[in-house]
Amino acid sequence: MSKKIIVLPGDGIGPEIMDEALKVLKTADAKFKLGLKYEEDCIGGSAIDKYGVPLANTTLDKCRAADAVLMGSVGGPKWDQLDSSIRPEKGLLKIRYEMELFANLRPAILYPQLAAASSLKPELVAGLDILIVRELTGGIYFGEPRGIRLLENGERQGYNTYVYAEHEIERIGRIGFEMARKRSKKICSVDKSNVLEATVLWREVLQSMAKDYPDVELTHMYVDNAAMQLVREPKQFDVIVTGNMFGDILSDIGAMLTGSIGMLPSASLDKNGKGLYEPVHGSAPDIAGKGIANPLATILSAAMMLRYTFGQGNVAEAIENAVGEVLDQGLRCADIMSEGAKQVNTTDMGDAVVAALS
Ligand code: NAD
Repeated sequence: MSKKIIVLPGDGIGPEIMDEALKVLKTADAKFKLGLKYEEDCIGGSAIDKYGVPLANTTLDKCRAADAVLMGSVGGPKWDQLDSSIRPEKGLLKIRYEMELFANLRPAILYPQLAAASSLKPELVAGLDILIVRELTGGIYFGEPRGIRLLENGERQGYNTYVYAEHEIERIGRIGFEMARKRSKKICSVDKSNVLEATVLWREVLQSMAKDYPDVELTHMYVDNAAMQLVREPKQFDVIVTGNMFGDILSDIGAMLTGSIGMLPSASLDKNGKGLYEPVHGSAPDIAGKGIANPLATILSAAMMLRYTFGQGNVAEAIENAVGEVLDQGLRCADIMSEGAKQVNTTDMGDAVVAALS
């Protein structure tokens, strides 16, 4: 089986954290004989500098032909003055859209060693392990018509369209149910069906799919309550499946529950399980070049890639365990530093994971 990975380090801290993730992947490859192949290219600001656009068509073609894409992060002040149509972030939107990466998986995992980093009480979040499955290419962020129009009375009106077709709900629902089946067999579908017809249909489709998954318990929750419950008692959730906008907001709450954005990986998958893997955080221009960025989110994104695209759950687990071991040793990057721990830089953290893995 081909295992071609396109590596897009991107901007800011992207190249720094990607170096560490590649070190870990290469160690895993040597140990588990995975046969991974890599090719590097540009996205975001680095692609604007090299190709004049945030995602060149040649890069997109390579990504389509590969099995997975591993990305760092995009953006930075250098490109902030550019027209919004060619800003670095457009490269990210384009790759997600063009590769039809409709399923965004964002785990919110709080390693017990980092419970003090959360803004919630440690007992509420220690051992937290939630998977948010967000629809990524539909809903109100893409619905037409949209725009700002002039009304007859001279006032301007902004408008968007919240739209979901049955097939779009079904394909993301299926990913949610399949994930729940591999975890604790509980899935909570989040909607606003008391107000929005589009989500009445969302709920109906999820309910009809539940017949195919008799072993999985499906519950429903309105999004306002879900936001509240995530802060009140987050460990009641296992898998959450929801639309694009609600997922955007809830996954950021999930990220904050864990206390550090430098720890959170993500995957965006197409219907064949091909995916784009990237840390949740951005390019952190404030610390870029200082060698202090936390590489663990990118290392954990690489582990997700091995699990979801390459079917190597055991290798992914070995990497995740190595990260746990390093935290047990008391090693911390600046963003997760706490009293009594030993602060390390980006490279030391990568080296420690490599050592724990090998
Ligand atoms: P950010 O995530 O880059 O940074 C927010 C804060 O978190 C900063 O203080 C930063 O130093 C810190 N941080 C982030 N990642 C870290 C890590 N691995 N280790 C230690 N600290 C870390 O968000 P921002 O400042 O709002 O955005 C900066 C740039 O990144 C912008 O150009 C934005 O558009 C872009 N961005 C890109 C992505 C992406 O590539 N997926 C996501 C969000 C933002």
